[in-house]
Amino acid sequence: MSGFIPPAKPIIGDDERAAVDAVLRSGMVAQGQEVAAFEQEFSSHFVPERTSIAVNSGTSGLHLGLLAAGVGPGDEVIVPSFTFAATGNSVALTGATPVFVDIEPETFGLDPAAVAAAITPQTKGIMPVHLYGHPARMRELTNIATEHGVDVYEDAAQAHGASLHGQSVGSFGQFAMFSLYPTKNMTSGEGGMVTVATDALARTLKLLRNQGMERQYDNEIIGFNARMTDIHAAVGRVQLTKVGSWTAMRQDNAAFFDANLEHVVTPTVVEGAVHVYHQYTIRVADDRDGFVAALKNEYNVGAGVYYPIPNHRLPSLAQYAPQLELPETEKAAREVVSLPVHPSLSTQDLERVVSAVNSVAKAGA
Ligand SMILES: *Cc1c(COP(=O)(O)O)cnc(C)c1O
Repeated sequence: MSGFIPPAKPIIGDDERAAVDAVLRSGMVAQGQEVAAFEQEFSSHFVPERTSIAVNSGTSGLHLGLLAAGVGPGDEVIVPSFTFAATGNSVALTGATPVFVDIEPETFGLDPAAVAAAITPQTKGIMPVHLYGHPARMRELTNIATEHGVDVYEDAAQAHGASLHGQSVGSFGQFAMFSLYPTKNMTSGEGGMVTVATDALARTLKLLRNQGMERQYDNEIIGFNARMTDIHAAVGRVQLTKVGSWTAMRQDNAAFFDANLEHVVTPTVVEGAVHVYHQYTIRVADDRDGFVAALKNEYNVGAGVYYPIPNHRLPSLAQYAPQLELPETEKAAREVVSLPVHPSLSTQDLERVVSAVNSVAKAGA
């Protein structure tokens, strides 16, 4: 058996090391010029029409974005349950109620009909997640939001560079958050970037990020320390110059899987969508956990399950929806398997993944 193929592999090279070293040598390591440059470059690269604000994690980005948008106690925000816990957590941290809604099976994103049915007079906003790097149904979701006079907030943690009908994710809502955690499509070490629709939101987010002050010791509102360091920004700036080619490699790897996998359900890309394959996620209807174990134990191929437990079933978040049943969410949580699709895979690795998946799927069929 050949070497282990990991499900994710951050790429950090000499350029990133040199950039960090330059910041360390400068002696100016907290939020400064590197962060400002990273924000400008991030906007230019992904969402030119929006201002970007860097924070110390994606989760901080969601939390502060919601606070800046005025979400608080008494409000409801509609979120998927089939996502990373940070989505619902960030809503709960504002004092608002996360309202968990089912997904549609093709995109794994919020089901627009279910969202429309969940709107109440307390609904303040809808927060779709562009899960695995595929855009959610933004046309339908933004129409519903407009019709009911509620906001849209995007969890774009996994979707740097994804788009729908030519419009970039991160430009649909009041704000959007992109995570810069190491296993995401690009990283700053830890970090998050928030793209915002208005100057007022940009200003409030900057205040919330820095103890509520624009001028030193002139604290206007109660805020956090959610600043990004120049060390992290330096890493992010280098990664920004590479993420386009990495995304193209993810897409090529996905095309290879689409053409060669057998006996499993491969990912759908809806018309007009650009998928950036943060994950390449297949469905295995029977004994998914046995399937993942066989890939690892028999073929040394690491696969991931994102996410095995719907958020409304987590001990932390179940309090918001003790009786809720979300059939497509539960089904996806039982069936999904994410295969390695990252840009470090060699042709031989890709062939090994295909033959492993096809053999295990055939044996189980
Ligand atoms: C990674 C992730 C987050 C949180 O980002 P962090 O940078 O890890 O705080 C939020 N939502 C989704 C869907 C994610 O994948």
